[in-house]
Amino acid sequence: APRKLAAGNWKMNGDLAALAEIDALAEAHPEPGCEVLICPPALLVHPMKGRVGAHAIAVGGQDCHARASGAHTGDISAAQLKDAGADYVILGHSERRADHGETDAMVAAKAAAAHAAGLVAVICVGETEAQRDAGETLAVIGAQLAGSIPAGATAANTVIAYEPVWAIGTGRTPTNDQIAEVHGFMRDQLGGRVGDSGNVRLLYGGSVKPGNAAEIFAIGDVDGALVGGASLKAADFSGIIAAL
Ligand code: 13P
Repeated sequence: APRKLAAGNWKMNGDLAALAEIDALAEAHPEPGCEVLICPPALLVHPMKGRVGAHAIAVGGQDCHARASGAHTGDISAAQLKDAGADYVILGHSERRADHGETDAMVAAKAAAAHAAGLVAVICVGETEAQRDAGETLAVIGAQLAGSIPAGATAANTVIAYEPVWAIGTGRTPTNDQIAEVHGFMRDQLGGRVGDSGNVRLLYGGSVKPGNAAEIFAIGDVDGALVGGASLKAADFSGIIAAL
């Protein structure tokens, strides 16, 4: 089984003072039983990496451009993230798909750029509430996986995060059976398309808290979590790391 991953997505939250949370996290988990990743706003990647020092906490970005460099005002390349100390980048989060019109093809191009720069791509998929109510969940997830994962993806350079849009920031989560169904489906879909597909980490994301983490992590084919709100404070994220 792959090494479990506790990934935090700070979204557009945090500042230099918030890096104190890294000290608290490192103190709480000197030798974490899983891989730990924090993806802060891009401006904080470099100072966070410095703050991590020798502790076992990886740092990642929340997006990158598909091109390596050039005239793209306001954008950040995968190589720049890598240079700043990132080892991961979240791609195709539903907030980017909604706020910035990111399509599956754009996400695949960004993931290819991430791989070329030596970053692990955390590719996000997930259905809306209307899609789930219409019985389209697996069709939506299947299409997103087919369109968003680039050629050359392997268990070493790619993580998939299942984040139902309706579970993000709402305090609502799917049932255990619903999570198991989607994760089992995703594992099947990766077969033949992603190298070493059995070892690709499949994260669940959406209202993961210390109180529900252990139950979610016990579900088959759940290899960790992508955590928003509960990753901002070490006291909360610690409980999730401990549950893995
Ligand atoms: P919450 O954990 O705040 O629901 O956010 C989930 C998420 O979108 C992580 O990428």
